[in-house]
Amino acid sequence: MNDRIPKKMRAVVLTKPGEFEIREVPVPVPEPYEVLCRVRGVAICGSDPEIIRGDLAGTWPPSYPFIPGHEWAGEVVAVGENVLNFETGDRVAGEPWKGCGYCTSCLEGKYNLCENYGKEKTGFRHYGFISPGAYAQYCAYSIKSVSKLPSNISFLEAALVDTAGVALHGLELTGVTPGGTVAIIGPGPIGLLAMRLARCMGAAKIIAVGRGSRLEAAGRLGADLLVDFEREDPVKAVRAAANGSGVNQALECSGAKGTFHQAVRMVKQGGRVALLGVPEGEFMEPLPFKYICRNEIAIFAVKADPNTKHKVISLISSGQLIVKDLITHTFPLQEFGKALNTFVKRRDGAVKVVIEPNGTEKI
Ligand SMILES: [Zn+2]
Ligand SMILES: [Zn+2]
Repeated sequence: MNDRIPKKMRAVVLTKPGEFEIREVPVPVPEPYEVLCRVRGVAICGSDPEIIRGDLAGTWPPSYPFIPGHEWAGEVVAVGENVLNFETGDRVAGEPWKGCGYCTSCLEGKYNLCENYGKEKTGFRHYGFISPGAYAQYCAYSIKSVSKLPSNISFLEAALVDTAGVALHGLELTGVTPGGTVAIIGPGPIGLLAMRLARCMGAAKIIAVGRGSRLEAAGRLGADLLVDFEREDPVKAVRAAANGSGVNQALECSGAKGTFHQAVRMVKQGGRVALLGVPEGEFMEPLPFKYICRNEIAIFAVKADPNTKHKVISLISSGQLIVKDLITHTFPLQEFGKALNTFVKRRDGAVKVVIEPNGTEKI
């Protein structure tokens, strides 16, 4: 490894459920087929507060101490053995998943459903969840889980590639009807990116359903119609806005109780529903079985972002997908606690909060 790479780095280390420290740890050494990267931007994901609180301790993370964080971009500073297509200086965006590569799901390209989940000996990785993540100055990642960035994308923007990839995966599953109408329930980061991507894919009318500052953000960032579910019945309002017959696609991006049912009732006959929001904890959602059958409503569950990052990077680079204005806050790594609080409490209209562990970037 090159002499300019220090032996130690600062990282956010979870020490036990609900507790973390910013401490010095060894800089990882890249294994074969891995690259060592200097992290320049790492965005807080909706799943991070849950992991940090320790709600899933034993699974995510499997044990302590643990470095979380998975929505990052940075530069390659060293390469492991057998790395042919990356070199020092390459700018890259990371993705949390690496499948084993040989199970049936991986062979079908569905590495988000790898049958060897959690078995790192098979080569499987889920960075920031079970494998060391990117709330650190450096991270070592498989070359399967990093993508090169064109020079016109900043590291801060590229830290949003993973979130946008999840939204795109949902939209690829449901499809978007060119000239059609899409309803987005829950205009948080995934919902807002789904809104922008639906537009890239040809949607003519986008209805955002939410409340408060996030609904306002949807209005500012391009929704055609806003439905405040605290003021009106969201199903009635959405159907009325879609000529009374319902929307082509409804994307549930909040994970809140009751919204799955609402999404089903918002779509037209033959309409499609995507579930992008992950509910906290376990709850059952009553659904109109007969209504779904009679109206041939298709429902798609969405997990992570397999095979979408290259598409998202191309869309950002071409200017068709704008993500810059979703970054409301940036913080240095030392202020991780403040950054987390800003994100969780949605302080000052926080949407995407990005940590910069190696100095600031102007965009
Ligand atoms: Zn994420
Ligand atoms: Zn696999």
